[in-house]
Amino acid sequence: MTGDATLLAGLLECSHDGILILDADFRILEANRGFQRLAGYGTAEALGRPIDLIAVEADDGANFDELRTALQASGHWAGEIRCLAKDGSPLPLSVRALRIDGGGDARHLITLANLDQIHDAERQIQQLAYYDYLTELPNRVLLSDRLEQAIAAARRGNQLVAVILLDLDHFKAVNDHYGHAIGDRLLRKLAKRLRGILRAGDTVARVPEQEAGKRQGDIVARVGGDEFVVIASALPNMDTLEDVVNRILTLTAQPCEIDGRKFTVTASLGVTVFPFDSADAETLIRHADQAMYEAKQDGRNRYHLFDAQRDQQAHTRRQLLERLRQALRNEEFVLHYQPKVNLRNGRVIGMEALLRWQHPGKGLVPPGDFLPHVEHDDLIVEIGEWVARRALRQMAAWRDLGLDLGVSVNVAARQLLRGDFVDCVRRCLADHPDLPRGRLELEILESSAIENTAHVRQVIQECEALGIRFALDDFGTGYASLTYLKEIPAEVLKIDQSFVRHILDESDDLALVEGVIGLASAFRRIVVAEGVETAEQGVLLMRLGCDLAQGYGIARPMPADQVPAWVAQFKPDPQWALWADTPWEMVDFPLLVAQYDHLKWVRRLAMHVEGSQLQLGREELNDHHQCRFGHWYYGHGMARYGELAEFRALESIHSDVHRLGPEIAELRAHGKSDEARARLRDLLTLKDRILDQLSRLQTVVAHKHPG
Ligand code: C2E
Ligand code: MG
Ligand code: MG
Repeated sequence: MTGDATLLAGLLECSHDGILILDADFRILEANRGFQRLAGYGTAEALGRPIDLIAVEADDGANFDELRTALQASGHWAGEIRCLAKDGSPLPLSVRALRIDGGGDARHLITLANLDQIHDAERQIQQLAYYDYLTELPNRVLLSDRLEQAIAAARRGNQLVAVILLDLDHFKAVNDHYGHAIGDRLLRKLAKRLRGILRAGDTVARVPEQEAGKRQGDIVARVGGDEFVVIASALPNMDTLEDVVNRILTLTAQPCEIDGRKFTVTASLGVTVFPFDSADAETLIRHADQAMYEAKQDGRNRYHLFDAQRDQQAHTRRQLLERLRQALRNEEFVLHYQPKVNLRNGRVIGMEALLRWQHPGKGLVPPGDFLPHVEHDDLIVEIGEWVARRALRQMAAWRDLGLDLGVSVNVAARQLLRGDFVDCVRRCLADHPDLPRGRLELEILESSAIENTAHVRQVIQECEALGIRFALDDFGTGYASLTYLKEIPAEVLKIDQSFVRHILDESDDLALVEGVIGLASAFRRIVVAEGVETAEQGVLLMRLGCDLAQGYGIARPMPADQVPAWVAQFKPDPQWALWADTPWEMVDFPLLVAQYDHLKWVRRLAMHVEGSQLQLGREELNDHHQCRFGHWYYGHGMARYGELAEFRALESIHSDVHRLGPEIAELRAHGKSDEARARLRDLLTLKDRILDQLSRLQTVVAHKHPG
């Protein structure tokens, strides 16, 4: 044999495929051992025989005639031919054929491979790619694929898909105690159980026909050491889901026997349900994982349902936080300033710095819309420092203009409670060494101080040494006790606006404000009323002993550059001056409130004329003794001012009002709106006369009270 011949013989010998060499007439010249294994014909049987020695099973597919024609025409052919082996068994073949010209006669080289074996190999590769070797369950790759299909199907069919992530509890202990071999066997047993949980006929796909990606439905997959994912698709409702989940918990917790030893493990389950959680496959699995973690936190051997809404909120919050961080970097925050004044002497005592967000798209955003979202993040500390620095700079700028204004800034609880708070204040102050003492005030919420009395007390004392004073903001809403007030050395109490708002018409609020003012004076604190919206509220506060006030009735918060002009033009309300120096008594207070009662009555009637339901009772409308003003007039008023002509003059105007009122209501009831409106104008004139007369009476009472 020549070298080439030896090489050829070796090649033929070691090939797994069947190899035939045919002559120009397609007779077998050589047949290797692979051919014998495949088709069952020995070499001696085959040599010299035509290729048709191998019978073809069916005549509807390719056959050797086709092969011959192709080889003669083009010199090569490849295809599948369903043949029969020598023993008659089916032999599907993958055939490749090539004509070799050159030298003497032409030769044909044919290779034959068993199609079944090829498919088996493919399946094996697929098995490795899509299934977990240990439990033979689908792996993560196949899982994602199936989940995507299940989602698509659920979308079409309006059904639910649950993604259940199961993590065994304390499984590491099993591995550590009994070794990995036992651990693996336990995992295999549990995998088998889990597979059984899914509906019959729709169980786990391991069988070759059910190729990856071709089927939707339920699936159990192993996605980590002791982590499995169960997808229960096409659920009609949440009750069914609960059944599945409970079944998984029960089944997992049943003891497993391995080598005569009993093992009991439990599992923690995280569940999320599409479309309530309308995320993609990957995200659903991640959400189930998050929920599983919560089930562990809650004590294991249970399930936790992912809360898509809460997650969405958390997501929105994270985004907002990020946006606010950016806002701080981009200098989008601004401070507005609201004056605090002394009602009695009409002086401006300082400004409160109030944060706003100058949003490029939304305009000016109030702090209530964004601060609550950062309160529990360290960003509030950064914002707080920015506010303090900006306010200090503003104070310096005003001083340069000859305006010596104190400024108070609000401090968030998180900021106040940090160990380095005083250091931070010190750093901010360092830039303004010539700032007089007492000009910077820090407002802290009563509630945030209560919870950390000792710390807050120390902070206040250390800041006091730096010349900074403290105010307890929103006082009255935090339910501070007397003991607590004694402990917290804040110089100022700011009465919360919710109480101030209703001092004129809610006796409880009046009592509360009175109480706070008394308390402040007993503890020698300064008291400031927030939310003063009307001059009358101011008068009452003064009378109660609170001269300092802040509120829309004085000025709304304004940009820093408007402050100097505002201060220059500020004139206190004449009513304050009127009452400021007079020793008028609390018993005269109802006289102030009377005008409010009358105004309210008129407003209700006016609203009725414009179409709303009448908010006055029949008696209140018709009888001038029965409205609130009337109650005062014929009761307290008559007893106290009955002698005064200014008081007497009110009576006839007021009874005219009550003649006109029912007339207007009548016109309105008969659909005569225009006439009703005309009469209403007369009523408004009467109202002005009443207010005039009341004002005259008030002046008399204030200056020469009969006593
Ligand atoms: P606050 O410190 O109690 O400030 C008073 C709030 O009441 C301000 O609202 C002010 O505009 C409003 N106000 C003042 N007078 C009246 C009035 O007569 N009627 C009514 N209805 N409201 C009045 P604003 O500016 O929206 O601030 C709300 C809260 O946000 C503040 O309440 C404070 O707790 C917080 N805040 C504002 N700026 C900052 C800041 O720089 N840092 C911190 N941590 N919190 C701030
Ligand atoms: Mg405040
Ligand atoms: Mg407040």
